[in-house]
Amino acid sequence: MSDDRFDIVIVGGGMAGSSLACALAGLPLRIAVVEGVPYDAPEHPGFDERVIALAWGSARIFEGMGVWQAIRPEAEPIHHIHISDRGHFGVCRLDRCREGVEALGYVVPVRAVGGVLSRRLRELDNVDLICPARLEALRLEESGAEVVVATGDGSRRTLATRLVVGADGARSRVRERAGIGCHESDYRQSAVIANVVTSRPHRNVAYERFTDTGPIALLPMTAAGEGAKPHRCSLVWTVPGEAAAEVLALGEGEFLDRLQQRFGWRLGRFVRSGRRSAYPLVLLEAESSRVPRVALVGNAAHTLHPIAGQGFNLGLRDVAVLAELVASHADPGEAALLAAYGRWRQRDQRAVIRFTDSLARLFTLPLPPLIAARDAALVALENAAPVRRRLTRLTMGLGGRLPRLARGLPLRGGDT
Ligand SMILES: Cc1cc2nc3c(=O)[nH]c(=O)nc-3n(C[C@H](O)[C@H](O)[C@H](O)COP(=O)(O)OP(=O)(O)OC[C@H]3O[C@@H](n4cnc5c(N)ncnc54)[C@H](O)[C@@H]3O)c2cc1C
Repeated sequence: MSDDRFDIVIVGGGMAGSSLACALAGLPLRIAVVEGVPYDAPEHPGFDERVIALAWGSARIFEGMGVWQAIRPEAEPIHHIHISDRGHFGVCRLDRCREGVEALGYVVPVRAVGGVLSRRLRELDNVDLICPARLEALRLEESGAEVVVATGDGSRRTLATRLVVGADGARSRVRERAGIGCHESDYRQSAVIANVVTSRPHRNVAYERFTDTGPIALLPMTAAGEGAKPHRCSLVWTVPGEAAAEVLALGEGEFLDRLQQRFGWRLGRFVRSGRRSAYPLVLLEAESSRVPRVALVGNAAHTLHPIAGQGFNLGLRDVAVLAELVASHADPGEAALLAAYGRWRQRDQRAVIRFTDSLARLFTLPLPPLIAARDAALVALENAAPVRRRLTRLTMGLGGRLPRLARGLPLRGGDT
């Protein structure tokens, strides 16, 4: 039996795993985070060049965890969302004023959030960061689990624990070693990302523009420096998989021209572009499981198309729900807790997966009947307030039964 005893071992210290450790920090539990790549390494796969939209509900969860104040200076609020279909009449606008909130969401660089979370983790007395280290083997029993990790110095450690959390991303080893099945479908598309500068300020509008070669999202970013005008946007451009290499290889001028032609002139002229990278897109959904002592969060449980900016927001709700259930059970890995976690998350996960998958398929196929259907859907959304409200609340991360952190409540307490 191992000397390394923990209440919870979190495998993967990316956005989901680090958030979970921070969320659990106030509980009387000993926690290990096993992460393969040092936090400040430029090649860290969890904290790369991505810039993501954090839903309003996710900002509340970070607030409840005590990290939002440090993230906020890096976050640009989204006041409006403008959804349109290139060359067609359909347009739909979502607006923060209708919801009576400061913002529908916020745009944050993943690396900045990673910096805040990793600094917080290092301050926590009850969290051991085991890094660099990789999961090698998993032994699971009804009464407890053992996690064997290979550390950076070539040695092995065996960690005994009551709960193993797989937060190790789309290719989760925890999921695989626990024998949890997974449905996967390849979109045969890639998301090309880059930060771009436009001649007109973004005015805190997030654009989602559907085009016959794939959707283009432009998210408003903070200004580049003090006194600078907010002309920076984060681009997520979905292209057919085979076109990604060509788009990455274009010279800057040619890239901006092509983007201009696809997106149009709502933001004026595209003036400059930063480094481009591409992400192949898959939909991945772990099967529900009755494996003892294991829970999956974030991309390990579900990896989504980025079309609606929902992936991490969904993962953060996994984190908030799991933390809340752990806070109210004596044994953090007991079967009743894991069953409750599965039941609670199923509805939200299925709804968001269905929503993003339908959008990805409906809005990337250039078939005339589909174009007509999506234009009709956009017009209906724009004109039907109750449906638009439901979409706005889903975008804000407020669909379904919300965990306490998302409602501004501490993990434990009398209020429900
Ligand atoms: C182009 C693009 C745009 C996106 N935009 C948005 C958006 O606007 N809004 C949104 O909510 N989401 C967005 N997403 C999704 C979001 O980026 C992901 O959902 C989120 O980053 C996943 O975090 P994670 O921690 O679950 O997984 P990961 O980021 O994959 O982290 C997994 C971690 O586990 C570690 N690891 C892996 N295997 C092991 C092992 N065996 N042992 C130890 N450690 C291991 C890895 O090093 C890594 O640090 C976007 C995604 C893409 C590709």
